[in-house]
Amino acid sequence: MGSGMSMIPQSQGRSALEQEQFLKILSREEALARFEAALFPRALPSETRKLAAALGAALAEDITAPIDVPPFDRSNVDGFAVRSADLATAGEGAPRRLALNAETIHCGTVPRMQVAAGTATPIATGGPVPRGADAVVMVEHTQPAGSDAIDVRRAVSPGQFVSYAGSDIARGEALLRAGTMIGSREIGMLAACGIAEVTVARKPRVAVISTGDELVQPGEALAPAEIYDTNGAIVAAAIDENGGEAIFLGAIPDDEAKLEAAMRRALEDADMLVLSGGTSKGAGDLSHRIIGRLGQPGIIAHGVALKPGKPLCLAVCDGKPVVILPGFPTSAMFTFHDMIVPVLRRMAGLPPRSDAKASATVPVRIASELGRTEFVMVSLVEGKNGLIAYPSGKGSGAITSFAQADGFLRIDALADQMPAGTETEVTLFTPHVRVPDLVIVGSHCTGLDLVTAQLAHAGLTVRSIAVGSLGGLAAAKRGECDLAPIHLFDDKSETYNTPYLVAGLELVPGWRRMQGIVFRKDDTRFEGLSAKDAVAAALADPACIMVNRNQGAGTRILIDRLLGGARPEGYWNQPRSHNAVAAAVAQHRADWGMTIAPVAHAAGLGFIPLAEEHYDFALVTARKDRPAVQAFLTALGSDEARAALERAGFRPA
Ligand code: AMP
Ligand code: MG
Repeated sequence: MGSGMSMIPQSQGRSALEQEQFLKILSREEALARFEAALFPRALPSETRKLAAALGAALAEDITAPIDVPPFDRSNVDGFAVRSADLATAGEGAPRRLALNAETIHCGTVPRMQVAAGTATPIATGGPVPRGADAVVMVEHTQPAGSDAIDVRRAVSPGQFVSYAGSDIARGEALLRAGTMIGSREIGMLAACGIAEVTVARKPRVAVISTGDELVQPGEALAPAEIYDTNGAIVAAAIDENGGEAIFLGAIPDDEAKLEAAMRRALEDADMLVLSGGTSKGAGDLSHRIIGRLGQPGIIAHGVALKPGKPLCLAVCDGKPVVILPGFPTSAMFTFHDMIVPVLRRMAGLPPRSDAKASATVPVRIASELGRTEFVMVSLVEGKNGLIAYPSGKGSGAITSFAQADGFLRIDALADQMPAGTETEVTLFTPHVRVPDLVIVGSHCTGLDLVTAQLAHAGLTVRSIAVGSLGGLAAAKRGECDLAPIHLFDDKSETYNTPYLVAGLELVPGWRRMQGIVFRKDDTRFEGLSAKDAVAAALADPACIMVNRNQGAGTRILIDRLLGGARPEGYWNQPRSHNAVAAAVAQHRADWGMTIAPVAHAAGLGFIPLAEEHYDFALVTARKDRPAVQAFLTALGSDEARAALERAGFRPA
């Protein structure tokens, strides 16, 4: 990092702007129907596995119980096998004496003697009930009467404490159905019936290839303009989660010959091939062209009216599904779950995945593109009247849009928006709604994690949704969060935050963050200057480029004051975070900007302090007594959190 930006690698012959049109965009339903019609019905290969090796596999056939479980009438308690008729008149004041038979039935003992009227046989839990007996009386409910008799002071009903043969599993009963995924409970049922081997569907082997010149595998160093291959790891894991066996073949550069060789090699061995990236039909995007040469019938759908995921490409090459997922991780994951998982599960012999749903209200208007079914990832929090679904603000390029969402909502292809307040159905990624214990909505700060760490260690779940100070304040007013972190400067009173509070909200002081000018340490233009003079020096040099902040950011107010109406080069570059400002300066995209001290120092940049900003919390008073809120307030005031904040460069209030 920190070196020039002039070295963006250019792919051979690639022109990103030159795009072929998608020939025919299919609806999601049409694309899936054609894909499935080209693949099914098909024979699913199966294999026999020992029970211990069957975990996670799908049963290939129904299993019928070969024996009764338990195999004999069995005592459930330690006590005496009796004839219930003998005890019909027994009671507290009228004990009935029974003579003991001369045997004791332990587990694994075959009874030899019959229980005749007026007698009882000692029996252990799990012992077979002897001939003649029809019930068991617990040892606690008897008293010894000499060495060869007992007194019983209560009546017993026929069958008491006896598990009859076949009462658990009856011979001939359907034990497990084909398609059941074998877990520890299924293994237990099979073992109870004495079954040592099962026939399971052979897991489909799915080759995974990432494509792109920019991709680097995790664990390796990142050069300028490179990114880590996210899709490879996440797609391989999702394949394993859905009954497949992923074979990850790494990232292949955008080179037609290399890619074709890799795809051919993959298809020799695998039952299915999943690629990601390179589907957008730019000149450098090759995989879909190669597919045409790999087998029949080839491409089934290229371009689906789906957002995220429009460039999805579905193909079948000589019976094997070949899929190209879009490159953006959230698009790749979403289309994989929505369109590929159904096919993979069928190939793995598993039943369709059942998705749990929940009803929730959207707190803000969500704009949508006409003509495409749009899926919006959402985080769920508990509101005053039920669940609230916060859309992930991060778009399809963000891995966290998918990974941190609780589920997604659907906006119809014919709608151009979903208005604020709409009640809608959310499809969950997990079987149940997980409502977090503490909800923080507002401006994000790395210092926040240092405080909430204590809550996480105490087993409390914290959901932090970054929507900026004003968005957080609005959420707090609607009662949709516990706390809204804000850093809002009021020009009139020249104070932070307090003037923005309304009835029902109270201020909890957080910490101070030093705002200042960042520059590269080797840039002598700014050395030794005050913030004011540094900005004057920047304005005086036409070659100097700034990086600004987004409208509404507390930092932006400070920048605009310093600039006093000037609009230098770079003014319209307005990223939304402190880190983006530091990255722009470190990577020579800009020469100066304003950020907070901890971020400047972490990026190894020079820093000229300007003013301390107050990062506080608007607390919803009505939610103050919730245990998680109290835990947060305790953590915030703790020596541990204060020390951690100071180490990171913040000043606790
Ligand atoms: P593409 O479809 O190849 O044009 O890629 C679209 C976007 O997704 C680009 O920003 C790529 O860098 C990114 N991308 C492609 N493949 C991956 C991957 N395996 N991991 C992370 N990002 C990717
Ligand atoms: Mg690419």
